Amino acid sequence: MKTVAVYPGSFDPITNGHLDIIRRGLRIFDELIVLVAYNPNKQYLFSIEERVEMIKETIEEKERVHVDASCGLLVNYVKKSGATIILRGLRAVSDFEYEFQMALINRRLDREVETVYLMTGYKWFYTSSQIIKEAASLGGSVKGLVPDIVCEKLREKYMIGRKG
Ligand code: ADP
Repeated sequence: MKTVAVYPGSFDPITNGHLDIIRRGLRIFDELIVLVAYNPNKQYLFSIEERVEMIKETIEEKERVHVDASCGLLVNYVKKSGATIILRGLRAVSDFEYEFQMALINRRLDREVETVYLMTGYKWFYTSSQIIKEAASLGGSVKGLVPDIVCEKLREKYMIGRKG
């Protein structure tokens, strides 16, 4: 039986840190679903469609990685999709408290779903979508921290922002 894991996040936008977790997740699981999990009341820089598109364009193992979006309860999505695992990444200690809470509530909601954590690669431990957006919005280069296509999209977004 194949093991399917769901890797949820905002991916606003996808970074090389996310891609590292996807690449390493594929060494453990047969298939991954990268899930753009969004809150309709939250503001994002990129639309859901843009985020899904950027992920699709940057992942290499297309047969084993699927991309989807959902605003519902994560454990329900996991069940519905035939997965049994939630995959998450851990960077600094600051991630830990939130992730611990999420793992516990998800386990309470569905005891058959396990959350598995991968430690960030040392090259990516300071890479977050938030810090990337901050640097890019001020005109800083984020090359090497995000896929080239994301660099391009960020440039477009903030150029339009400056003109508007
Ligand atoms: P962020 O926290 O960067 O806004 P997401 O909400 O999209 O990103 O995060 C989705 C998952 O990916 C979370 O488990 C997060 O800890 C993990 N993640 C994000 N960036 C990295 C990174 N640089 N290294 C390892 N894991 C990461």
